[in-house]
Amino acid sequence: MPTDSPLGKSLPGAPDKIRFDRVTKRFGEHTVLDGLDLAVAPGERVTLIGPSGSGKTTILRLLMTLERVTDGVIHVDGQPFSHMPAGPGGALVPANERHLAPRRRRIGMVFQQFDLFPHMSVLANVMEAPLHVLGLDRDEAARRARDLLGLVGLADKAGSHPTRLSGGQQQRVAIARALAMRPEILLLDEVTSALDPELVAEVLDVLRGVARSTDITMLCVTHEMGFARDVSDRILMFDHGRVLESGPPGELLDAPGHERTRAFLRTVR
Ligand code: ADP
Repeated sequence: MPTDSPLGKSLPGAPDKIRFDRVTKRFGEHTVLDGLDLAVAPGERVTLIGPSGSGKTTILRLLMTLERVTDGVIHVDGQPFSHMPAGPGGALVPANERHLAPRRRRIGMVFQQFDLFPHMSVLANVMEAPLHVLGLDRDEAARRARDLLGLVGLADKAGSHPTRLSGGQQQRVAIARALAMRPEILLLDEVTSALDPELVAEVLDVLRGVARSTDITMLCVTHEMGFARDVSDRILMFDHGRVLESGPPGELLDAPGHERTRAFLRTVR
């Protein structure tokens, strides 16, 4: 049976939601990802951990089409995402901007820096993309935005300006803003790293709520192992652009197989 939620759909037996096929990413001479294979099921929550510089953010940025693959292909729902068929025989070539723009809309990303529009109200920030990118009418965009501000616990701040909010509240607005596009995939890149320690919990609680109440596919980079344990179906330990080991949180966090994973976990606990 298909399951529906306000924010996504999943169909049992569907192809992988995300698949990296031998993806290589180089910056100049520096190979950041080296023939990476990675599959994420529809609705799966996957957390990427590992030392700084191991390529985790690059994976999210490739999916967000903020970077282009050097080699290999990224698929979403079994269709080429980084590429498009062209020429005789349907050979794949890198997708051009015209093809990437609509694909990018299927993916939401929340960054370390919230980057809200400071001159707009909280409500207007959340309405902006549905209004101007999706072309929703103003009432529908406002209704959607108010629902999401309720989901992140900020219904009473709709008329406030972001500068009047705490960092934790601003990040919760950024989460509502990403969800307002009804993405199928939500990418979270160290969303609590810029926050004062006392503000981290409220943001992670909101994300736990999103994970519980939707079946959105989530890919998350975090150093918050308690959060990773709560929300992840699977944790991948990266080292030098490769998956060193992976498994459900109980296995990977409690009984890691590699000394490098144990050493990394000691640094984040
Ligand atoms: P992580 O998220 O695991 O800390 P990143 O994916 O951010 O790692 O970075 C992996 C490596 O790629 C780092 O060595 C970083 O310096 C390099 N890198 C990332 N983006 C760029 C870029 N735009 N230009 C050059 N090097 C980059």
